[in-house]
Amino acid sequence: MPRVICIANQKGGVGKTTTAVNLAACLAKAGMQTLLIDLDPQCNATSGLGKQPVGQHPLVGGVPLHHAVLETEVAGLFLLPGSRRFRDVEALARDDGTYGARLRDHLESGAAGFDTVLIDCPPSIGRLTRTALTASQEVLMPIQCEYFAMEGLAQMIEVIRRVMEERDRRLQFGGILLTMHDPSLELTWEVEAEVRDFFGEIVYATVIPRDVACGEAPSHGKPVIEYAPRSRGTRAYVELCMEVLERD
Ligand code: ADP
Ligand code: MG
Repeated sequence: MPRVICIANQKGGVGKTTTAVNLAACLAKAGMQTLLIDLDPQCNATSGLGKQPVGQHPLVGGVPLHHAVLETEVAGLFLLPGSRRFRDVEALARDDGTYGARLRDHLESGAAGFDTVLIDCPPSIGRLTRTALTASQEVLMPIQCEYFAMEGLAQMIEVIRRVMEERDRRLQFGGILLTMHDPSLELTWEVEAEVRDFFGEIVYATVIPRDVACGEAPSHGKPVIEYAPRSRGTRAYVELCMEVLERD
């Protein structure tokens, strides 16, 4: 049974996809067979790894999931691509638990043979995010170091708590990650202090700095560790990867 981590925050632009792609790449480099599932209809994780969204969403079509999984340029990193097809997005958004259960069954069957599975969620707390939460053991929530960082989090945390109480309560709070950290800004330190004060130990010690390499890498279809191996962004995601592995 792989370790399944979903990367969620209802806000857009906080670094979910960047974290999903780069943490997945670092885990693969660390020797873990890793699957990245793109559940966001915007398919940024798919294009960020240089792949095309597919015509039919693998979770909606009847195909066995392992037939839909693609290899990537990074050894040990595999991708379940997303789809922008409106009908499939609608079907997923109306999910009554079927797709979440299908995903979970697939992951639990062990057929996949992955050590770690990361799920990149859309920026909402709609059904898709709930589907991802029900299929996961841990949720990793990126928080951007900006003024409204904590706004709306109560709602997100409430949804997470409800999923934790449902089913067999296998979902845990994996951790909170501070992203786009800029030490030259007073605001960054204020947000960091507030988040650490409020959430305590579940906040990762590693912070992800604002680094242009992280923004540029997806346009080359590569994770930052391939695009700019010596960048600060790479260093931060390697450090995060070690922390995630330690918390297992
Ligand atoms: P989300 O998936 O939460 O919507 P993204 O990961 O797509 O957020 O990030 C939003 C934007 O910020 C993207 O253009 C991305 O390239 C950029 N970005 C993310 N993390 C960083 C970073 N650490 N440094 C600089 N730019 C970043
Ligand atoms: Mg995204």
